[in-house]
Amino acid sequence: MKSYDIVIIGAGSIGVPLSYYCAKRGFEVAVVEREASWGRGQNRAAIGGLRATHSDPAKIRICAESLRIVSSFKEEYGIDIEWRKGGYLYVAYDAEREKAFKSLLSAQKAAGLDIDWVGPSQVAELAPGISTEGLLGGTFSPGDGYASSLMTATAFHRLALGAGVDFFFGEPLVDMVASGGRISSVRTAHESVSGGLFINAAGAFAAEVAELAGSSLPVHPDCHEAGVTEPVERFFEPMVVDSRPDASSGNYYFYQAATGQIVFCITPRPQIWGREKASTSSFLPLCARRMLELWPRLRELKVRRTWRGMYPMSPDGFPLVGYARELPNFLNAAGMCGQGFMMGPGLGSILADCLAGGSTPSRPSGSTEYGFVFEELSPYRSFDAVEVLK
Ligand SMILES: Cc1cc2nc3c(=O)[nH]c(=O)nc-3n(C[C@H](O)[C@H](O)[C@H](O)COP(=O)(O)OP(=O)(O)OC[C@H]3O[C@@H](n4cnc5c(N)ncnc54)[C@H](O)[C@@H]3O)c2cc1C
Repeated sequence: MKSYDIVIIGAGSIGVPLSYYCAKRGFEVAVVEREASWGRGQNRAAIGGLRATHSDPAKIRICAESLRIVSSFKEEYGIDIEWRKGGYLYVAYDAEREKAFKSLLSAQKAAGLDIDWVGPSQVAELAPGISTEGLLGGTFSPGDGYASSLMTATAFHRLALGAGVDFFFGEPLVDMVASGGRISSVRTAHESVSGGLFINAAGAFAAEVAELAGSSLPVHPDCHEAGVTEPVERFFEPMVVDSRPDASSGNYYFYQAATGQIVFCITPRPQIWGREKASTSSFLPLCARRMLELWPRLRELKVRRTWRGMYPMSPDGFPLVGYARELPNFLNAAGMCGQGFMMGPGLGSILADCLAGGSTPSRPSGSTEYGFVFEELSPYRSFDAVEVLK
């Protein structure tokens, strides 16, 4: 049986960067993944938005760390992950949204975010041709942006291999073996892997993995679709978010990728729970209507492809990070909802620091100052709050 300091279950948005940072910190690391390669779970469904613009301090800090890592990736590692610092533009067409966005500004600024309210003319400059009828303005955070989720996972996989991580692909977890109140090993289809610490980074399947460990975790898969157009000449920079709900959708957001395509996504209303991966016939007409109402000039764009994936949802829209009460060597890094891609690099780096700093269930942040991550994102919190910008 192969033995490691840390065994990560899931080579996705969280597991791959986490494995790299742990190996870089000197741990012997294995990653167990049911798919044939990295990033083939929900990571590949992510459209690549990366923002530190959130409503709570823990996510702001984690994503600020992700932004620091991703924005310097090319210089530091010489790998292009199609990062583009286009900013995020939340547009407001009604007083309710204007009030909600403005009310978050002081907390966001206090957390160090470069974000401000911009008037209608600035919105129209940032998104030339956007409908100005009823436009009240918006918030703009120029330091946010987007990157390719596929290239980012591939880059981290390459770095992780270089740092000595062992990946076990095509190996679904079938059992976790416990003795003396601790997990001693995991069994997959063809392997048995023992370890000191087991990290649940299984995304939309994190509840099932927790159950195998004899624990429970409230993660529920929530279906979302996205699409991509043909590439066109660059005509705007920010990720535009229109959060006005209508009868069949919530947030609608899109950006122009570094390679020219418009990549878009919409939040269905009501939420669609489950694991169905086939694209629906209702998604594109819904998007087209919202898109043309908001920005008529987009009408000439040809859509090339749509796809469907799952948000690994927690009850309140915040991630679930922390040790299982019953098992001192089982750590959850799951429930990333619609933001796992943007959380991955930052959370990976922060968790690796905590583990290197002597993390234990009673003091999960070890000697680091990241205690707030475990406090705010504890899987055992009350779930009373709701993430405003989820
Ligand atoms: C349409 C869409 C658009 C999105 N856009 C964005 C975006 O712009 N920005 C953003 O930040 N996020 C976005 N997301 C959300 C993002 O994709 C997820 O939050 C993120 O991928 C979750 O990361 P994860 O590592 O937890 O899960 P995953 O990336 O799914 O990784 C989990 C891995 O665990 C493996 N696994 C599961 N069970 C087992 C098992 N039993 N044994 C072995 N392996 C197992 C899976 O195969 C998978 O590879 C989007 C999601 C969708 C669906």
